[in-house]
This record gives sequence, structure tokens and C-alpha cells, in this order.
Amino acid sequence: MYHVRKVPHDRESADMKRYSAFAIVREALRNHRGWERAWISPEPRERYDVVVIGAGGHGLATAYYLGRNHGVKNVAVIEKGWLGGGNTGRNTTIIRSNYLQDPSAAIYEKARSLYEGLSQELNYNLMFSPRGVLMLAQTEHEVRGYRRTAYANALQGVKTEFIGPERVKQIVPIIETGGPRYPVLGALWQARGGTARHDAVAWGYARACSDMGMHILQKTEVTGITQKGGKVTGVRTTRGDIGCGKLAIVVAGHSGRLAEMAGFRLPIESVALQAMVSEPIKPAMDVVVMANTVHGYMSQSDKGEMVIGGGADGFNNYTQRGSFHHIEETVRALIETFPMLSRLKMLRQWGGIVDMTGDRSPIISKTPLENCFINGGWGTGGFKSIPGSGWAMAELVARGEPGPLAAAFGLERFREGRFIDESVAAGVAH
Ligand SMILES: Cc1cc2nc3c(=O)[nH]c(=O)nc-3n(C[C@H](O)[C@H](O)[C@H](O)COP(=O)(O)OP(=O)(O)OC[C@H]3O[C@@H](n4cnc5c(N)ncnc54)[C@H](O)[C@@H]3O)c2cc1C
Repeated sequence: MYHVRKVPHDRESADMKRYSAFAIVREALRNHRGWERAWISPEPRERYDVVVIGAGGHGLATAYYLGRNHGVKNVAVIEKGWLGGGNTGRNTTIIRSNYLQDPSAAIYEKARSLYEGLSQELNYNLMFSPRGVLMLAQTEHEVRGYRRTAYANALQGVKTEFIGPERVKQIVPIIETGGPRYPVLGALWQARGGTARHDAVAWGYARACSDMGMHILQKTEVTGITQKGGKVTGVRTTRGDIGCGKLAIVVAGHSGRLAEMAGFRLPIESVALQAMVSEPIKPAMDVVVMANTVHGYMSQSDKGEMVIGGGADGFNNYTQRGSFHHIEETVRALIETFPMLSRLKMLRQWGGIVDMTGDRSPIISKTPLENCFINGGWGTGGFKSIPGSGWAMAELVARGEPGPLAAAFGLERFREGRFIDESVAAGVAH
């Protein structure tokens, strides 16, 4: 039985003790009475320097890097549900940076490289596993597209290579490379891509934010945005009005709704994307495989479940389930490439609301309101970018102008026709 020491709600910081092998031994010897809450649940203050709406990975990372890189610590992260309960806790955790366009490769590679040391930095085990990501080429078109991406990555300093079907078979023995409809013709291979534990990413950032004295206000829905003279003055919430000096909107699939509250429109559509896991089996595949032509991707979790991601609904909606026909379509499509799947039972299925832009690239941007900034549009692929996105968004919020990582991702690109087209490199986009 665990005894959690009560942390008073009005305390300003969680006074975080370091997790270590020594702490585990110490707590084992004293019946686990010394573990503390990872973050506090405070009452809201009247006003904060910065309010971040959305305690997903991106919102929490924004708050963390505001404190770490810019010394801004009077920050609240406001969340209508529980932290990490949005897409951050619902995705299939693929991390890679092999995108086609230079601005994308820069921010995703920044994120990937931050992930490498993040468990140590946050003193929280994120279970980052750089096991390698294969993007299968199953049509001639994909072969050409991925060869092009490999050349682009070489110029960008992102380490990837295009490999042939024999090498694919060596890396993934359970794969069927000679399928009748979709033979495996090769793959784009990123050896330092991989996965991380999604909840842990949210929890690790939340704990570090709380330790800096920031407030994470869960079960607090933002219902309105108050403004005066072209500036945001605060937010209306289900726990009362909260004033702020600056506002960061970081709410993924709800970006359109929050922008509407602030009085501007976004070129974003919200759709449900879904995933599922099989019953657990013995280790069968130690890399991540993405099959974009058939629209399925798969990895094996530490528990042994095959984690399978499928397609997005073809219509706009806010359900966190996804429609039923996708389950069958995804599994049916993957079985040709992984015949062993036909013998597996599926255990669970779920969905999340993703925010899609026309060029399949994110928005990290100023808005028509002087002190209001928005981060969204990561669509089906924003888990991998959380550290890089938080880094860039914090810079934008702190300075009022985007730094080099965010400069290309402003909203004005849609007006000016300066798209960052990732529909090839990010067809499925995870
Ligand atoms: C099934 C699925 C599979 C995916 N697979 C991958 C993958 O393999 N790799 C990858 O890189 N990405 C993947 N993604 C995409 C990735 O999950 C998202 O891009 C990313 O998690 C977005 O993070 P976020 O912090 O912006 O959003 P979220 O985690 O959704 O956080 C936004 C938060 O804002 C809160 N919020 C909304 N409105 C309000 C309000 N009015 N007031 C207060 N709070 C509010 C929500 O409750 C939510 O917690 C996948 C997504 C899904 C759904």
C-alpha cells in the first residue's frame, strides 16, 4: 500500500525531491511513505504573467521552456480535463524527424535531439526508445518520394537512409515483402527515431513546471477570452475569471473553438484519428514500421501489445472515438504486409481529435491580438515535436517575435501562399 504525503493546495511549489536509485531503495525500506505528489493542485491566482490554455504535451512544454529558457515562472497552464488526457495520452508515440522541407526537419530534429536527454533533464523516465523507424515504400511513387526525402535529410543534417527490401526483411523478420498488391520495394530508415511513453512526457513536464512554482489548473475549462483595445486581458473559466499579461492557446483539436472565442479564424479542420492495441504477445518486432500506402503503422509496446495506428475520419468531428469502419480497414490493410496479425485479437481502440492544416504543417504564430499566441495544427504527428514545439513557442511568447525554429510557421503563410507542404513526407504523418 502506498502512503502519499499530502501537499497543501496553496503551496507555491511541489518542492520536488529528485528521483534516483537511492530514493527507490530508501522508500522501499520505509514502506514508501516518503513519495510526494508529482505536482500540486493549487487554487487559481487572480492573475498570471502568462496563461497557457491546454495541458497537453505542447502546452506543458511551452510552460517548462518559458521558465527554463526565459525565466518566466508566474505561469498557469489551464486544462479542462486532466493533464495529458487529450491527444498526448492517445497517440501511438512515434518519434522521427525525416521530414522533407527544411523548416520541418529543423523543428522535428530539434525535438528528437531534445528527447534523447529529456529523461535526465526532467529527472523523469520518459522511456524514450530510439529503436528505429521504417517508412515502407510500397509503390514506385513512394520509392521516388522517400529517395528524395533521404537526399533532403542529408542536406539538412538529419541522419536517414533509403534501404532495399532485403535489408527491411533483416530488420523486421515478420514482414511479408512480396505481397501481391503492395510489395515492399524499400524503406526510409531513421535509426535514431523511435518511441517514448506518452503520458510520461506530460507528467515529466508537469512535475518540472510545478517545481518551478507554476500552476497547473486541471478540471478548469476556458469558456471565454476577455479583451480590451486589441489585447487579451484574461480568460473566463469554470473556476472564475483569471487575468493574464500574455495568452498562449495550445489546444490541438480545439484550436478552432478557442480562436473563435478570441475572435479570429484558423485554416484548421478537426477530425478524429484512431488507434488500437492487440493482446500482448512475445517480442516480435523491435522497430516502428509505418506503411503509408495502406495507411497503417505499428510498433510493439513494452507490455507486448502490438500498437496499431489507423486513418483519420473523412469528415470533421469532435468525437474521441473514431468511426468503426476504420478499425476493419486498418487491420485488413496491414494483414497483407504482416500476415501474423490475422491471428491476433484486438484489445482496445480509441480516438483523439487532431487539427489538420492544408499543408500538413503546424502553426506557431502571433495572432490578430497583440499579446495572444497560438500553437496548433500538428495534426496526426505532433507527439514527436513536443520538446521542439515547446521550445519555439516559449521563445515566441517571451519575446513577442518568433525565433528561427518558429519563423516559417506563422499564420501569414496561408495568406501569402507560402505553404510548407509536407503531404509527401507526412502522408500518414505520425
Ligand atoms: C490516435 C492518434 C495517434 C497519433 N499518433 C502519433 C504518433 O505516432 N506520433 C506523433 O508524433 N503524433 C501522433 N499523434 C498526434 C499527437 O498526439 C498530437 O499532435 C499531439 O499530442 C498534440 O498535443 P497537444 O499538446 O497539442 O494536444 P493535446 O494533448 O490534445 O492537449 C490539448 C489540451 O487542451 C485541452 N483543452 C481543449 N479545450 C480547452 C478549453 N476550452 N479549456 C481548457 N483546456 C482545453 C484539452 O483537454 C487537451 O488536454 C496521434 C494522434 C492520435 C489521436
